[in-house]
Amino acid sequence: MGIKHLVAKAACFQVGNGASIRIWSDPWIPNFPGFIPTPKEGANSDLALVLQNPGCSLLNLLIGSREWFLLPPILMLTCCPLKRIAANLLPSKEIISRFNESMDLRCPLCNSAMETTLHIFTVCPFAKSLWFQSQWGLKMDVLNFDSPSEFVKFLLSPTFASNFSPSHREEFLLFGAILCDVIWKQRNRSIFENVDINLEGVAAKIFSLFVEHKSARPPLVRPQVSLAALGWNSPPRHGLKINVDAAVGPKFSVIATVTRDWRGRVVFTGSRKVNTTFPLQVEAEVVRWALTLVPDLRCDSVSVEIDSQVVANLISNSSVPPLWRIRFLCFDLRSFLSSYSNVVVSWVPRICNEAAHILAKWSLFWKFYGSFDVSFSSDCFSPIVLRESSGLV
Ligand SMILES: [Zn+2]
Repeated sequence: MGIKHLVAKAACFQVGNGASIRIWSDPWIPNFPGFIPTPKEGANSDLALVLQNPGCSLLNLLIGSREWFLLPPILMLTCCPLKRIAANLLPSKEIISRFNESMDLRCPLCNSAMETTLHIFTVCPFAKSLWFQSQWGLKMDVLNFDSPSEFVKFLLSPTFASNFSPSHREEFLLFGAILCDVIWKQRNRSIFENVDINLEGVAAKIFSLFVEHKSARPPLVRPQVSLAALGWNSPPRHGLKINVDAAVGPKFSVIATVTRDWRGRVVFTGSRKVNTTFPLQVEAEVVRWALTLVPDLRCDSVSVEIDSQVVANLISNSSVPPLWRIRFLCFDLRSFLSSYSNVVVSWVPRICNEAAHILAKWSLFWKFYGSFDVSFSSDCFSPIVLRESSGLV
């Protein structure tokens, strides 16, 4: 009770639909002193934040529409930002400048145009590149949307996809919603935390969120597995297991493979430098390296294990559309896998992939790559291999 006035000093309204907010007297803009904008001369102090534009009617249409309610719960949750975009309720610089004429209007992502809602999600070079890298390869600048609501309408009913099945439409909408959400969060980090935005990192984040949400299913009853039971497992007798991992650095990355037999003995271990910092590409490159080792291994079966669920899914499940950036690499890997009946690529938790993980990190840190004897670094690598092997029966 006693601290209510203190909380009120630091509290800022959540905008919602704007109808209950008085523009010039309520605290509603997060980066303004006291969260309250300075009134323009002669401004109506009782003016509510209700934006009159076609987006509002579309917003109502979206919320009440059959399409909206047919969305799975996960999609409804993810698509929440779209409702604000449709109603042009996101506090873009263009919107805020109506209450602060002296502010810098440039888009923080490209610094070359005024930041409007449409700009930031469609024609900003940053957004354009992300749309073009998507599996639909969209060129957003040629679509010429007139308003944010038209853009959201396009996400709901893409004009280029009249023959899409309902599930494909849903996927497109999901991707669009995730892309907008991630861009908006990155834009906020750029403005409020001065964080430099890495396009490749953002693309990878969008893609992995997309794959995660797409494969989300109602919770299944999973068997209880104790942590003690987790750890490296040996391959079948006369088979080999290649654990792979990657460490992404600021200028280049390192990939590492650890090949062991069914007794846990190391057959080959090595690391390599790769000239990309795009996480999914790095992880796919390490799988490619592991698969090139297969013809020389001469064993009954080979199991490649990676702790990136997204990449394992991309490579082993041909129904998952690959990210544009690594499309050809994925096709190569899938075609390699389909030509070998005794090779599988699968995901394991990090705890089961420690040796490859440590080797990649160690190589990146020391900038030291090549094939190694298991005893090469007694302080970090060999104890893990020993520990993993000792768990074997
Ligand atoms: Zn921009």
